[in-house]
Amino acid sequence: MDFGDTDEQRLLLDSIDRLMDRHLPPEEVRRRDAEADPPDHLLPLMAEMGLLGLAVPVDAGGAGAAWQTMACVQERLGYHATMAALLFNRVTCFGIMTLLASGSRAQRAAFLPRMLAGEGAFALALTEPGAGSDAGALAARAVPDGEGWRLTGRKVWISGAAAALRLVVAARSAKSARGGGGISLFLVPPDAEGVSMTRLDKIGNRCSLTYDIAFDGVRVGQDALLGPRDAGFACLKKTLFYGRTGLSATAVGTAQRAVDTAAAHACERVQFGQAIGRFQALAHRLAIMQTEVDQARLLVRQLAWAIDDGKDCTRLAAQAKWAATETLKRVTEEGMQIMASAGYAAEGDMQRYWRDARLYTFGEGSSEILLDLIASDMGLGRALPK
Ligand SMILES: Cc1cc2nc3c(=O)[nH]c(=O)nc-3n(C[C@H](O)[C@H](O)[C@H](O)COP(=O)(O)OP(=O)(O)OC[C@H]3O[C@@H](n4cnc5c(N)ncnc54)[C@H](O)[C@@H]3O)c2cc1C
Repeated sequence: MDFGDTDEQRLLLDSIDRLMDRHLPPEEVRRRDAEADPPDHLLPLMAEMGLLGLAVPVDAGGAGAAWQTMACVQERLGYHATMAALLFNRVTCFGIMTLLASGSRAQRAAFLPRMLAGEGAFALALTEPGAGSDAGALAARAVPDGEGWRLTGRKVWISGAAAALRLVVAARSAKSARGGGGISLFLVPPDAEGVSMTRLDKIGNRCSLTYDIAFDGVRVGQDALLGPRDAGFACLKKTLFYGRTGLSATAVGTAQRAVDTAAAHACERVQFGQAIGRFQALAHRLAIMQTEVDQARLLVRQLAWAIDDGKDCTRLAAQAKWAATETLKRVTEEGMQIMASAGYAAEGDMQRYWRDARLYTFGEGSSEILLDLIASDMGLGRALPK
C-alpha cells in the first residue's frame, strides 16, 4: 500500500483548488450556508473536468480511476467546502454507483449520461418516522397494481429530494417478510402524482436540503423497479462501501480545515503578551488534533485501497466512518474552544464546521451501530454466545 499522492493526483487536486477558488470561494460558502442555497452550479463544472466520471469504468463512459484517487478528491472537496463534497458524493457514490451495481440496461441508458453531464443525482428515501437506525422496520408499502406498482408511506430526512433526477424509494413489497427482507427499491420522479414534500429546517449542512415526503398511492411502472424484486437491502449493501468512503474522506478534509483554521488563529491571537499557540495547553491540543486527523486519513485511504483490491470492506468501512466522523466531531469541538469567541462568531467558519460535523456521527449509520458491527466482526457483542 502506498498512501502518498501520485503526480497525477496532485495535478487533479490542483485543478480542484482552482475550481473552488473561482466558483465557491470562502465568502460564497458562507453566503450559501446562511441562505441554504445549494452549490448546484458546480455539477456541470465538475462534469466538464471529468470529476463525476472519475471512478466510472472506461466502457461505461468514465476515466476508470481508482477509489484511492476518489478518496483524495473527496477529501480535498471536504477541505474547501463540505457542501460541495456532499453534492459530489450524492452523484458519484450513491447515484452512479447504484446505477452501475443495480440498474437495468434501460435505467443506465436513461440516467448515467445525465449524471455524468452534471444534471443531477439520485436521493435515497430510506428513513421513516419509525425506522431510523432500524431501517428494517420500514413500513412504506409497494403493492402490485396492473403492470406496475403503487407506493404508499412516509419518508423523513431525505437529502436532495426535490432536485433529484429520481428518488430511490425503499418499500416493503413482500407482505409476509419482516426486517431487511421483502424490500424493493423504486425509482420515483420527485414530482410524480401523489408525492408531496415539506422541507425540514436544521442547524447544519444547510445547503443539503432535506425533506419529509409523503407517498399517497404513487403509481410507477414495472421499469421503476431498481434491482431484483424483494432484494432492495442487498442492492443498497453493494454500494455502501462507496458511500462510506465518500463521507469519511469528506470528514477528514473538513477536519483538516478545522485544525488548520484553529492553528492559524493560535499563531495570530495574542494574550498575556504572546501568541496563544505558545501556551502548551493549546499547542498540545493542536498536536493531538492533527495526529487524530492523520490516523483517520490512513484508515480512509486503507478502505479505498481495499475497495480497489476487491477485498471485503465491511469492517474497514465501519472503522473508517467511525474514526473520521468522531475525529471531525472532536476537532471541531476543540477548535471552537481554542478560538473561543472568534470561533463562535457567525461570520467565521469554525461554527459552520462544528454545526456540520454533528450530523456525521449518527447520519448514514450511527457510531453506536458501527461499533456494534466492528465488535461483532471481532466475535464480540451480538456474535458472542450467551
Ligand atoms: C440532515 C440529515 C440528512 C439525512 N439524509 C438522509 C437521506 O438522504 N436518506 C435517508 O434515508 N435518511 C437520511 N437521514 C436519516 C439518518 O440516516 C438517520 O437519522 C439515522 O439513520 C439515524 O436514525 P434516527 O435519527 O432515527 O436515530 P435513532 O435510530 O432513533 O437513534 C437514536 C440513538 O439511538 C442509538 N441506537 C439505535 N439503535 C441502537 C442499538 N441497537 N444499539 C445502540 N444504540 C442504538 C443511535 O445510535 C442514536 O444514538 C438524514 C438525517 C439527517 C439528520
